[in-house]
Amino acid sequence: MSRPPEVFVPEDMIAFYKELLGITPDEGTVRAAPPGPEEKKQWEAGVPLLLVAPPSVDTAAFFALLRRVADAAVKHNPGLAQDVTQVLEALPADPVEQEMFVASVLSREGTRLEQLVRDAHLSPETLGFLVNHALKPIMRAYAQEAAGWCNTEEWQRGICPVCGGRPSLAILEKEVGRRYLYCGLCETRWRYKRIGCPFCETEAPDGQEFFTLEGNDKYRIYVCSTCRGYLKTIDERRAGEEEIDLFWEDIGTVHLDILAMREGYVNRSLEPV
Ligand SMILES: [Zn+2]
Ligand SMILES: [Zn+2]
Repeated sequence: MSRPPEVFVPEDMIAFYKELLGITPDEGTVRAAPPGPEEKKQWEAGVPLLLVAPPSVDTAAFFALLRRVADAAVKHNPGLAQDVTQVLEALPADPVEQEMFVASVLSREGTRLEQLVRDAHLSPETLGFLVNHALKPIMRAYAQEAAGWCNTEEWQRGICPVCGGRPSLAILEKEVGRRYLYCGLCETRWRYKRIGCPFCETEAPDGQEFFTLEGNDKYRIYVCSTCRGYLKTIDERRAGEEEIDLFWEDIGTVHLDILAMREGYVNRSLEPV
């Protein structure tokens, strides 16, 4: 079990995320086969594994996960009850439509969700939250399989090699300061060049600008003057001997997101690719 951060995240939020972490798919919900030579080539050319060798996901199990996430959301945030009920009522009930819904969620294709928001007048944030947190344990299971199939040291791109998501965090490795990016959805960690912005891929010299928090140089925020994106970064060399858990670091550094956005930078990890 991972360790919650010591930074200032409210207790009830930690309890909520702990409960979400406990929502995991049953054995057999996510089935994935290793990519063949042709798929491997596409992956090497930069197409995320999810698109070249997608897993098959049990439809009923996905909706069961979604309902568990919904229950947890209401339990920890009673104010969301009405929004959550609206979302649950608007979800497709017909098995064929349910299957199509899961397929569109898996392919990270947003139009079906946008349509649902419009048709049923849903809160886009609530729908997005529930769907993402039902998808997350599925992607985590898929990424665990995928780790054996593709070498994430070689990928070197700004998007996640497994699910195609944008990085929510970076880490500067202890030994030689190599940089790794971290995907907040499937929790894959992959190598990226030391200099440059993973969102717009610019290598402008001022793309390396960063600021730190007073009194805590374990964390840096790299900012990009080209796309105005920012990247929360953990400097492992300044983290002492403590073991770093990127899931909790991502949640525990929400104050860095707030800081960066207050400075006019944009959270590009949330944008569709
Ligand atoms: Zn990912
Ligand atoms: Zn940029």
